[in-house]
Amino acid sequence: MAGSSAAAAMKATSEPIADDKTAIVCLNCKDAGYYTLDVPVGDPNFGVLMLCDCRRSEKEQRAAHELHRLSNLEPFSDKTFETFDASVPGVQRALARAREFARRPQGWLVFFGNYGCGKTHLAAAIANEALQNHYRVLFAVVPDLLDHLRSTFGPNSEIAYDERFEIVREAPMLILDDLGTENTTPWAREKLYQIINHRYNYCLPTVITSNRKPDEIEPRILSRMLDAVLCPERIIIEAGDYRRLPVEQRFGYRKRRLERGEGRDPRTRL
Ligand SMILES: [Zn+2]
Repeated sequence: MAGSSAAAAMKATSEPIADDKTAIVCLNCKDAGYYTLDVPVGDPNFGVLMLCDCRRSEKEQRAAHELHRLSNLEPFSDKTFETFDASVPGVQRALARAREFARRPQGWLVFFGNYGCGKTHLAAAIANEALQNHYRVLFAVVPDLLDHLRSTFGPNSEIAYDERFEIVREAPMLILDDLGTENTTPWAREKLYQIINHRYNYCLPTVITSNRKPDEIEPRILSRMLDAVLCPERIIIEAGDYRRLPVEQRFGYRKRRLERGEGRDPRTRL
């Protein structure tokens, strides 16, 4: 079954719709069950057949749906590598590493930096690019994530707590934005630690941003963030507060886009 459908998929991906007049149900794979990534020749994923979500088990589909729902990337949809202002001094190294991680998610990537230095933009850009390449990503602002986990205990929750917790813990790529700002209860602190420890033990691709000083982060979590094997480099973004730059400089990119008639309203949040 798997072999024959893979062969069918191979055929289907090279001849996407042919003369078939029946409606296509899955736009991602054109009902082939597999798709290939849009990556350049030489990329390790070039030509690799990826199993489409439409062929995954119901549980896996629920996980994919839940990752998407929890991610709430909509407000960050304009935060891409293209819209990142690379001319701000001090951000080049961070930008290069973020791009590399989005292309090939491996190990951990940790960004420390002051509020407004661009680390959330980079974290969202990684998520947006990874999604475009059909990686499954959970982008989570830490305090919100802990709220979501807590809400699973509520009477209106559609999904059981254990299942949601597992989905978060096992996300193929997990991006934890703003670690250290959460106003934690002992319960939330323990959950956060369990997620991070699990990602650590299984070397799962993880991005963490924090505007805290390292000594303000819980030692059990910090020691994992400082592991040199999993995370060979912690990047401290030295850029000043991006939001304090003159308006012209902050919105330069958007202004140029707007002038070309392509932009969003610049008042959307930075
Ligand atoms: Zn499909």
